[in-house]
Amino acid sequence: MCNNFNKKFIDEAAKALEDNNLAPAPPTLENEKFMSEAVIAAIKGMDANEGGPFGCVVVKGGKIIGRGNNKVTSTNDPTAHAEVTAIRDACKNLNSFQLDGCTIYTSCEPCPMCLGAIYWARPDKVYYGCNQEDATNIGFDDSFIYKEIPLPDEKRSIPFEQCARDIALEAFQKWEKKENKIEY
Ligand SMILES: [Zn+2]
Repeated sequence: MCNNFNKKFIDEAAKALEDNNLAPAPPTLENEKFMSEAVIAAIKGMDANEGGPFGCVVVKGGKIIGRGNNKVTSTNDPTAHAEVTAIRDACKNLNSFQLDGCTIYTSCEPCPMCLGAIYWARPDKVYYGCNQEDATNIGFDDSFIYKEIPLPDEKRSIPFEQCARDIALEAFQKWEKKENKIEY
């Protein structure tokens, strides 16, 4: 499996060069090792019927400090994507709500939800294996969500509408005045 995976990585890099596209970073042994770990998490989770074929590891100081795989169907949690479960695991282990100095290796290019989760977690870098097109090819199309983002509220496939802003602002006003808040 690892050899196939490495071969795929190298083939893709070679193809990108041939196509004169922007070439991905040349694979390094460390990249391959950690990406393989993310893929192993994906396959284990899939084999155990925990969810879709997605895995992720969080690395700090050359060590894996968080691991996750997709658990949507087994936990009835639509937010239990591999990146989210890995971030939760890493943050729990670090006892922190930030992933400073960490690198995320995810087996597939993050969906918009995970992209947001990654930005909130603030790791140093993200490596992804498969891309959005690869995911679409096996029935996981996240691209429609990216297309929804710039649309005005009423044009979204799930309509958004602002209501009762005055009521909602109360929490914000209290936060502004709160003295012992932990900012993030
Ligand atoms: Zn996701």
